[in-house]
Amino acid sequence: MRGEILSVGTELLLGQILNTNARELAVRLAEAGVFVYYQVTVGDNRQRLLAAYREALDRSDVVVVTGGLGPTYDDLTKETLAEALGVPMVLEERAMAGLRAWFASRGLTMTAIQEKQALCPVGAELLSNPVGSAPGVLWHKDGKLVALLPGPPHEMRTIFEASVFPRIRSMSGEHLQSRVLHLAGIGEASVQERLADLMAGENPTIAPYAKLAEVELRLTACAPSDAEATDMLTPLALEVRSRLGWHVYGEGDERLEDAVGEELLHQGLNIATVESVTGGLVASRLIGHPGASRYVAGGLVAYSLEQKRSRLGLSADTVGDGVSADLALELARGATRQFNADVGIGTCGFAGPTGRQVGLVYVAVAGRRGDRVRELKLGATREEIRQRAAQWALTLLWQQMREEA
Ligand code: AMP
Ligand code: MG
Repeated sequence: MRGEILSVGTELLLGQILNTNARELAVRLAEAGVFVYYQVTVGDNRQRLLAAYREALDRSDVVVVTGGLGPTYDDLTKETLAEALGVPMVLEERAMAGLRAWFASRGLTMTAIQEKQALCPVGAELLSNPVGSAPGVLWHKDGKLVALLPGPPHEMRTIFEASVFPRIRSMSGEHLQSRVLHLAGIGEASVQERLADLMAGENPTIAPYAKLAEVELRLTACAPSDAEATDMLTPLALEVRSRLGWHVYGEGDERLEDAVGEELLHQGLNIATVESVTGGLVASRLIGHPGASRYVAGGLVAYSLEQKRSRLGLSADTVGDGVSADLALELARGATRQFNADVGIGTCGFAGPTGRQVGLVYVAVAGRRGDRVRELKLGATREEIRQRAAQWALTLLWQQMREEA
């Protein structure tokens, strides 16, 4: 089934709000087995909305529309659908009663313009809205389905999940299922190289997505049932994991700091940081994992050369110009001493944007499991260099723990 998402609202075109509805619906439609080929955004304008409907009805089997279902003059979604379908609108008594009850329960009186919300294009049905006043609309005929949903995201979501998703799912014979694996310490090109034969497959598919400091792998299977899609993805995910080894740190919503934290707990290690270029980003991420108090001892930002010397008792020679492999190691060792921790992380580097060797970064891990340091060239903006440096610091620790596990 070919799907289309039509987002209605001038505020979207003006960039005043982000189109989160389309993003959410795209994910769910894929899960219902619908291939979303188009996402269209149109303002609150009858003529252009009508044109968008005609195009969507012509080329798509499932059209999900959000926004413009309210009572005001610029809410045109429902009447324009009726116009596109060439049917009149009728007042639905049941919806009218529902509206009256909704307003009464909030101590509000219903005005005449709000009655518009009980109108329904002939041949369609109104979908009750338990969390707002505007009902949704469902039109389903000759293998085509059009769903109209209110703009406010929680109303959109509530009606979609209760009344639209199940209908679409039963229409499509196919079930699309995705799994997302998160990778650390490996670039898109090496992933491609190691998985080339798997990536050539058409079903299931594997697609890499490069993010700021990591690569994501999306595994997708299309099958007649959920169980069959799961059966296709399970061996594929295992094969990918075995080929990429420690580089796969997690899946789904899992973040690198979550994986690292769980591994520290598992190995019974606690950790501390002394950060320069990352300015606390590494500590902040470690602490972002619930339960971090069980393994994070503490962290220090030692930024000036003078503080690097005096706080950590380092010689002027070791500190040098503030960026070297030796210094990163000394910062990591200093972290274990300062906080009496099993493992320490140290970071230093040139974050730019001006000066020499912008993007040269050293991250180090020291302590009970041995010492490691890594030189990186992270050419990008100051913000990106710092984010990537933090990711690499956690990656180095992850690699060490996994390789020696
Ligand atoms: P409407 O149903 O068009 O009156 O929209 C009501 C409100 O819902 C808007 O003011 C936005 O705050 C929100 N909204 C509408 N469309 C979207 C969308 N596509 N994504 C996220 N929020 C939206
Ligand atoms: Mg609107």
